[in-house]
Amino acid sequence: MHPILFTHQSAEKHQVPRGHPERPERMQALGPILAERATIWQSEIAPEARHEQLQLVHPDSYLNWIYEQAGAVKDAENLVSLDPDTWAGPDSLTAARRGAGAACAGVDRLMGGESLRVFSAMRPPGHHAEPEKAMGFCLFSNAAIAAEYARKTYNLTRIAVLDFDVHHGNGTQAAFYGDGDLYYASTHEMPLYPGTGAADETGCGNIFNHPLAAGAGGAEFLAAWRDVLLPAMLAAKPDLIIISAGFDAHRADPLATLTVETDDFAALTDDIIQLAEETSEGRILSLLEGGYDLTALANSCAVHLDRLSA
Ligand SMILES: [Zn+2]
Repeated sequence: MHPILFTHQSAEKHQVPRGHPERPERMQALGPILAERATIWQSEIAPEARHEQLQLVHPDSYLNWIYEQAGAVKDAENLVSLDPDTWAGPDSLTAARRGAGAACAGVDRLMGGESLRVFSAMRPPGHHAEPEKAMGFCLFSNAAIAAEYARKTYNLTRIAVLDFDVHHGNGTQAAFYGDGDLYYASTHEMPLYPGTGAADETGCGNIFNHPLAAGAGGAEFLAAWRDVLLPAMLAAKPDLIIISAGFDAHRADPLATLTVETDDFAALTDDIIQLAEETSEGRILSLLEGGYDLTALANSCAVHLDRLSA
């Protein structure tokens, strides 16, 4: 059983203003590390999410607004601002729909028994998109959509999203907040954008936030997962594990001050695999989120993929 990689050229075409950190070059940086793994990771085209899949998290009022705003952009010289950080060009709606579609297709591959590991290498990312709000570079809440899709389509009882991006996934948390069967666990730097993610934001006992202080490194990062978050997820016994895989906690990342090293992402990936083997029959869906130093992004993503496929 090969691990499956979803991607699409639209991910590299999603346009943002000059100087924006969440830029097409991120996909170009991942290109070589994905190509090097082509014999191990079976590459598939990320399909566009259907309206009904997006509706699992986002109301029609929001979706129609996004379709209108992003669908109206005709050329890359006149990008549309969806929020101060979040932009759409001519290819952005397609890219965002394919990011959400890849997440759902990944669920299909895992639940169909075709693979135990799926990675979606798409941009824009998803974890800041709230049900009714585009923000933080994100249009659709990909991890939450995948969780709802898995529950609805495959009757899974409990699903967990593990988010190690340096920013708090306010969008995933908002989608899950009152739902005791959808778990969200996150490490993130605090204070930092978007400002949510305090330890006392616990939902209905399904939200586990572990903020880290500025400058914290791999020891604190791994201890948060090993001592607190992973044991909580083990107790939750999720049927499916979804990773919001952002690599911007890396020491080299320009958007935050944590000092996590490449090897720490490898170690955490190993720990998540162990959790998956104990609770979800090994099934892991990993979705690319942030990571803005191109070298650190490529190296960290490479070790993450290699551990997932080991
Ligand atoms: Zn981030």
